[in-house]
Amino acid sequence: LLRPDGTVASTIFAEMTNLAARTGALNLGQGFPDADGPEYIKAAAIAAISDGHNQYPPGTGILELRQAVARHQQRHYGLELDPDTEVLVTTGATEALAATILALAGPGDEVVTLEPFYDSHAACIALAGATHVTVPLVAGPTRFALDLTALDAVVTDRTRLIIVNTPHNPTGTVLTRAELEAIAAAARRTGAIVVTDEVYEHLTYDAQHVPIATLPGMAERTLTISSAGKTFSFTGWKIGWVHGPADLITAVRTVKQFLSYSSGAPFQPAIARALDDDAAPHELAASLAARRDLLCEGLQRAGFDVAVPQGTYFVVADGAPLGFADGMDLCRRLPELVGVAAIPVSAFCTPGSPTAEALASRVRFTFVKSEATLLDAVARLGRLRE
Ligand code: PMP
Ligand code: GLN
Repeated sequence: LLRPDGTVASTIFAEMTNLAARTGALNLGQGFPDADGPEYIKAAAIAAISDGHNQYPPGTGILELRQAVARHQQRHYGLELDPDTEVLVTTGATEALAATILALAGPGDEVVTLEPFYDSHAACIALAGATHVTVPLVAGPTRFALDLTALDAVVTDRTRLIIVNTPHNPTGTVLTRAELEAIAAAARRTGAIVVTDEVYEHLTYDAQHVPIATLPGMAERTLTISSAGKTFSFTGWKIGWVHGPADLITAVRTVKQFLSYSSGAPFQPAIARALDDDAAPHELAASLAARRDLLCEGLQRAGFDVAVPQGTYFVVADGAPLGFADGMDLCRRLPELVGVAAIPVSAFCTPGSPTAEALASRVRFTFVKSEATLLDAVARLGRLRE
């Protein structure tokens, strides 16, 4: 990200958000909701500030929150965690990913991701000095599917980590049990550790989220990462967590100490309360399902080819039928053309890779916006054909 002239390149999310702000475009780029999460969770954070939760909390996170994470994983997935040794609170999933990758991978190690991959996965692999190798997710008739042949070829004795992301950003794929079993088998075969990014765990539509840690023999070799940002619509609070075997969590905690030391004191008790609430994420997913359909149908009417997502709050659309061969170019022009911002899928790919080529004309739109904003966006996109 450091350019040869010493300036720093922004992430693609910052670039497109700035472009949207500059042009007054509707921002369907960066994934954040335009409505905050439940009032009582906000009130809990405000009360925590008033009650004096304003100094460094414990570096591992407050016990109340670690216990709430353990209860959540038990209740939803049957995973049994020791909140004292197997759960670490982090500054969003972003810090959990950074601390995990920096703790466990270094020069000479290979780290596998599913391509397209979330941008911070690749950046942290580079920061760790490890080698990044990828397994493609291939666009099929109904969903993006994991290339199982490539998986077997890419995961070898050199593989230190396999980074999984399900539900998957940007494709919206929810990995099937069979795909996860193939990843688990590859990890067991080579001794690789699995790091799974499950920040969209509650945002699924007609598909079931399976945490890879629940597969046979996987809890002992998996670090599971999630966060409150997407589940409860508080992306700016930056409260996340990672759980897994005590020895691996100790390694991750060692690095976390020097990244942030500790995370958002007043937000921790508020998220501890939120994590006992299954209704809020359920309602969010239900309302998102309707907004997904609205955006997908609108994109199709506008002339895009659309891969309807099974999870997340993103949809990948192909601009090729409209004559846009280059998604990056389309995203840089779209705000001026019709007043909508999006993210090119190539930003989630290794430059020049076969997946980058295959997905060159695809762009990602978010539907975590009000129905009125989505209707407006769809009407504007309809003008692309005029
Ligand atoms: N992983 C993925 C796949 C994401 O889409 C995001 C953005 N929410 C993150 C990690 C970062 O999460 P957080 O905001 O909790 O740091
Ligand atoms: N996770 C968000 C997305 O994919 C972006 C977060 C960020 O800006 N780094 O849009």
